[in-house]
Amino acid sequence: MSQVYDRVALIGLGLIASSMFWAIKRAGLAGEVTGYARSAETRETARRIGLCDRVCDSAREAAEGADLVVLCVPVGAMGAVAAEIASVLKPGATVTDVGSVKRHVITAVQPHIPQGVHFVPAHPLAGTEHSGPEAGFAELYDNRWCLLVPVEGSDPQAVARLRALWEGMGAHVDEMDADHHDLVLAVTSHAPHLIAYTMVGVADDLRRVTDSEVIKYSAAGFRDFTRIAASDPTMWRDVFLTNKDATLEILGRFTEELFALQRAIRTGDGEHLFDYFTRTRAIRRGIIEAGQDTDAPDFGRGQVKA
Ligand code: NAP
Repeated sequence: MSQVYDRVALIGLGLIASSMFWAIKRAGLAGEVTGYARSAETRETARRIGLCDRVCDSAREAAEGADLVVLCVPVGAMGAVAAEIASVLKPGATVTDVGSVKRHVITAVQPHIPQGVHFVPAHPLAGTEHSGPEAGFAELYDNRWCLLVPVEGSDPQAVARLRALWEGMGAHVDEMDADHHDLVLAVTSHAPHLIAYTMVGVADDLRRVTDSEVIKYSAAGFRDFTRIAASDPTMWRDVFLTNKDATLEILGRFTEELFALQRAIRTGDGEHLFDYFTRTRAIRRGIIEAGQDTDAPDFGRGQVKA
């Protein structure tokens, strides 16, 4: 794989940025990668583990002269970071982001993008429940999707170059409209996270009644919820605050289905339950056939990194 950009700047050095760095290095996709994180502690860690060719002490220093600037901070912080670096962006450079919500990021970031600088929002559909500069690994994006969400007037060449970067990092790339993205992600990621948070919260309340039994006898269903519910609180707070409408729409539908299942249990309607579970089982098969998960027993525990 050959170099796609001379200089890439990663602003924010957590799971997503650090995985990008290792994946960029693995394939030689950039000449130099600079990085910046707001806390001295994260910058120190980055220097210690060799994360980025050059760790800078300000976002402006990292972004200055870069051909691609990637905003890798929580969704709620994107606008402020864009405002901070705007005046040092090189003409012809591209600004992109990795935020889990797209409409809000576009509204917050686009007004700060100077004339002559391209803005191509993106969202890699890959992650783990771990965060921080030491959580990343080069394989995170392998065989995962990255959605590019070009804004009106996005330069096709800038979009094509960003696509080449993500493909070089191992991802499949698709393009999508921002509102559609936010609705799809509300179904596939945001609502499921909220449900996991809720279930773990309920079990935690119950734990006070049953002592440590919830932990001790933790079965597969609950354990999988706890993994999802261990995800970064700042990131997920921002996701729900900024993808409000789509998430509430999906949660409304979820509640209706839940009531229907509740009624089936109460009235002993086994046929309804059986038919419902048969339909949902087919979805799992579809995900495995699409290569988006392993069919190993117990979700391949012990085989998956991180
Ligand atoms: P992370 O590991 O928690 O790292 C976040 C980084 O952003 C850290 O370097 C942190 O700096 C910095 N940061 C936090 N709050 C900030 C603020 N108010 N101003 C400036 N910098 C701030 O997060 P991540 O998982 O890499 O997520 C980064 C972005 O990727 C988010 O927008 C998220 O929605 C998106 N995303 C995440 C996943 C996932 O599964 N994790 C998947 C796809 C997309 P310090 O270290 O100095 O605190």
